[in-house]
Amino acid sequence: MSIQLGVIADDFTGATDIASFMSDNGWKVVQFIGVPSPENVCPADTDAVVISLKSRSIPAADAVAQSLACLQWLKESAQARQIYFKYCSTFDSTPAGNIGQVSDALMSAVGVQQLIHCPALPQNKRTVVHAHLFVNGVLLNQSGMENHPLNPMRDADLRRVLAPQVHGAVGSLNLETIQQGTPAIHQQLAALTTQGVSHVIADTLTPADLVSLADALADQPLLAGGSGLGGALAKHRPSVAGSGAKVFTFPAEKKAVVLSGSCSAMTNRQVNAYCQRAAHFALDVGRCINLDAAYIREIADWVLAHVSDDLAPLVYATQPPEIIRDIQQKYGEQQASAAVEETFARLATDLLGRGVNTFIVAGGETSGTVVKQLDVQTLEIGKSIAPGVPWVRDPQRGLMLALKSGNFGNEDFFVTAQEYTE
Ligand code: ADP
Repeated sequence: MSIQLGVIADDFTGATDIASFMSDNGWKVVQFIGVPSPENVCPADTDAVVISLKSRSIPAADAVAQSLACLQWLKESAQARQIYFKYCSTFDSTPAGNIGQVSDALMSAVGVQQLIHCPALPQNKRTVVHAHLFVNGVLLNQSGMENHPLNPMRDADLRRVLAPQVHGAVGSLNLETIQQGTPAIHQQLAALTTQGVSHVIADTLTPADLVSLADALADQPLLAGGSGLGGALAKHRPSVAGSGAKVFTFPAEKKAVVLSGSCSAMTNRQVNAYCQRAAHFALDVGRCINLDAAYIREIADWVLAHVSDDLAPLVYATQPPEIIRDIQQKYGEQQASAAVEETFARLATDLLGRGVNTFIVAGGETSGTVVKQLDVQTLEIGKSIAPGVPWVRDPQRGLMLALKSGNFGNEDFFVTAQEYTE
């Protein structure tokens, strides 16, 4: 068994995001939750395996150890011909990591001197020009990402963001070169190698630039970046396994809930829009900090009382930046985040036990917490609801999940998700 691409994703929504782009481009993709054990067999007839970690905001040493364990499994058990380190298209990291530290570790393990990073996802309006990242045409540090509760992005120059996280020099592969095609790209990469540049940020303005990069980088043993280049690699190399995305139907007795722990600008809009149409329950962070079984039971009872509504009930911690700032000042950043995640984790377990079988989750870390808690081992990839957000299915128990990264989807995402296969 030899797969075309082995992906190590630093969060769960990022994993479904790249799986979705590859699947929509014709590849058969399987998603594993957490580091596979040596006993885990890579399914036959698979083009790509995506391993979902929750390693974005943990200590760098732990993120490195988990990523290296994934690399070993992908090499030995799946015989992956190319490895891809997938992180967020908004380059979510802090000076403490983990994009740089994991990249350096994978480079040494794979044995390469230079790594090309392509974070851009032009399909979702994340573009890179002169190594500066833009979201919807606005610099990253003015896009709302400067208010992220865990990894506020306060600089759009990815060379400066990455430099403190890595050992070698960071350079840039510019748009003009990329638009000239493979020979020009190879020439500039060779020149950067001569200058001692070991991390290269690739510019990308349009999906056509991704195609040029996929062509030029087809033989690189290791790549890093967002889901855009993953999709372009799938487009560039035909499937050897057969079918791509599946169409799923919801469970016959569908019991759905929406859980939102993302505080991104788009999720705030989505939650506001959904609150106009569906039953909604705002988490009280003070009670999450002093979490007890009674609070979980109270929320779960409320969900169950609304589970037969036309639209699934929403439980949310999502708040605008000024409220998040107050909460963080009162309880501490890490403590507040951890308490909210713990509340969603325990709620998900309770709801699963009471028959809820369809979970729409907003937020990368939040999705990671929920999926781990549901004890899902692998996921099948369905067609996308919005670019980068597919329905996915746990084949063992038929649970349906939609895992949405912070800024993905349009304002009606939660409704669109529920209309999907009906
Ligand atoms: P995104 O995909 O937008 O980055 P994440 O789920 O990855 O969303 O991250 C959001 C983080 O913010 C989570 O750790 C979550 O627990 C935390 N959070 C959500 N709501 C609140 C809140 N009201 N107060 C403090 N932290 C919060």
